[in-house]
Amino acid sequence: MSDKRDIRALSRKEIKSYLVELGEKPFRANQIFEWLWQKGIKDFDDMTNLSKELREHLQENFVINHIRVDEMQRSEDGTIKNAVRLYDGKVVESVLIPTDTRITACISSQVGCSLDCNFCATARLKRMRNLNPDEIYDQVVAIKNEAENFYGRPLTNIVFMGMGEPLMNYNNVLAAIEKITSPEGLGMSPKRITVSTVGLSKMIRKLADEKPKFKLALSLHSARDEVRDKIMSINLKNPVSDLIEALKYWYAETKSRVTLEYVVWRDINDKAEDIQALVDFCKQVPTKVNLIEYNPIDDGIFQQADYAAVEAYQKALQAIDVVATVRRSRGKDIDAACGQLANKNQVELEQA
Ligand code: SAH
Repeated sequence: MSDKRDIRALSRKEIKSYLVELGEKPFRANQIFEWLWQKGIKDFDDMTNLSKELREHLQENFVINHIRVDEMQRSEDGTIKNAVRLYDGKVVESVLIPTDTRITACISSQVGCSLDCNFCATARLKRMRNLNPDEIYDQVVAIKNEAENFYGRPLTNIVFMGMGEPLMNYNNVLAAIEKITSPEGLGMSPKRITVSTVGLSKMIRKLADEKPKFKLALSLHSARDEVRDKIMSINLKNPVSDLIEALKYWYAETKSRVTLEYVVWRDINDKAEDIQALVDFCKQVPTKVNLIEYNPIDDGIFQQADYAAVEAYQKALQAIDVVATVRRSRGKDIDAACGQLANKNQVELEQA
């Protein structure tokens, strides 16, 4: 591994001051930025509008890291999962999810995850490191290309619902979104981007202060502390009442409704009191609810509740005018569905 600096970890401003110090013209920073982000070149030699001297200098001092899609799996429902190899050999996964009207990229923000949600396969990997902005951006580019090549359609949406907790890699996630949405990058609309969080109240407030244009989703799964404490240990330090306050603040600052992600499990959160707690939650904060199907991760403790329980949730929410959508899993056969991203094939390869 090289000890040169990753040039794509620098902001345009940082590149500019670096060049000025070298005695170069500041506008060269824009040219370099365009090569790096819009044209996606992999070699300084390809920056043909720079002098040979400057190209050589950059070559000696920086690297351009690139991800590599090591393995691509296609589900029978059209979902595609990429195993993405990073510059240091670590692997993350990202997923392309096609529907009739959209193509969504589900992107990872960390290698592994430090959270401890008992129902999620990624939690078993533990967190190894944060992804750099370019590693996040490149996952989007890879999926955008697959959308065009395999489906002849543009990428329409991005969700940060892959591996990791985006708000624990705050700066890099925001830097990546800035590139994804800027005209020198992919020029995508921030309204089509959703960042999903386990619900870190402090970070939600911090994010609200930036008044971002993208959307926020929160993985709630229970609005009762006694239940949420057991299934998502983060709740012990970050109780539901704090979440409500943080989401109220989010709404006041952004006027954007948060989407709550919610799985209904048998004997865990399928009773009337669980439904009532969610209804009370939603009465306090403007939300939408996605009732997502559980994807078993082998240990049998968690089981999808009966459909009647899911319907009871939906009815109770609709009765207070909260939109509640039941979401079917996608890409289950290739372990690409929510909570299934665990580098399974890599682990198997390493064990073989
Ligand atoms: N850390 C962020 C981003 C991960 S998003 C967050 O917690 O929101 C992944 C989504 O899938 C989360 O809503 C998570 O709660 C959900 N999930 C995890 N394991 C799951 C499983 N086995 N079945 C269905 N959804 C799961």
